[in-house]
Amino acid sequence: MDYTVVRQSRKSVSIRVLDDGRVEVRAPLRCPEQDISRFVQAQSDWIARRRQELSQRRERAQRALEFVRVQGESYPVSPSPDGRVRIDLREKRAYLPQSATAEQQRAAIAGCYRTLAQNVLPDRVQQIAQRLGLTYGRVRINSAHGRWGSCSSQGNLNFSLYLMMASPKAVDAVVIHELLHRVQLNHSPEFRRLERQHTPDYEACRRELDELALWMRREGWV
Ligand SMILES: [Zn+2]
Repeated sequence: MDYTVVRQSRKSVSIRVLDDGRVEVRAPLRCPEQDISRFVQAQSDWIARRRQELSQRRERAQRALEFVRVQGESYPVSPSPDGRVRIDLREKRAYLPQSATAEQQRAAIAGCYRTLAQNVLPDRVQQIAQRLGLTYGRVRINSAHGRWGSCSSQGNLNFSLYLMMASPKAVDAVVIHELLHRVQLNHSPEFRRLERQHTPDYEACRRELDELALWMRREGWV
């Protein structure tokens, strides 16, 4: 098996499969070649699995989008007549240029999610904050993945544009979570109790968001 060795001042050997399938081994400065080779051999099953995983991910990332998720629903994708990217909430359909690669399509859709999030979230935060009797600073949209929202100690709220893939109920759950950090800035049992008390269908929302995060990774969104 081909691999490149990077010598470093370190104590153990570690192995990495790069995105293009090449294998990179990090080894201590004086580690004998033989030991490295044995180590790589011993990891060959893992390397093969990892390579397959990466190539499947690459393939999925390149495939043109057939549908996009919008507010918990699946919108079919149609070729855009004017080359512009847009999500039509009334028609429940997304329009994308056909010439674009899936990667470009995803980036363009992320832009639509951002606009949608900017239209939807500030109002929703205000409504929920009012209901809970809580105050907050500013609301910002970012492109974080793996983190749906955050609340700073000054009460400024950040939400991921990818939340626009989730159902309104799950979005509310994230908004409620972040706003409740105005009461407590941690995830103590008391915080969790408050969260469950104020979030309708708490368990279902958590499940939806976890599954969405997995799906995004599987489909090459992140
Ligand atoms: Zn939190």
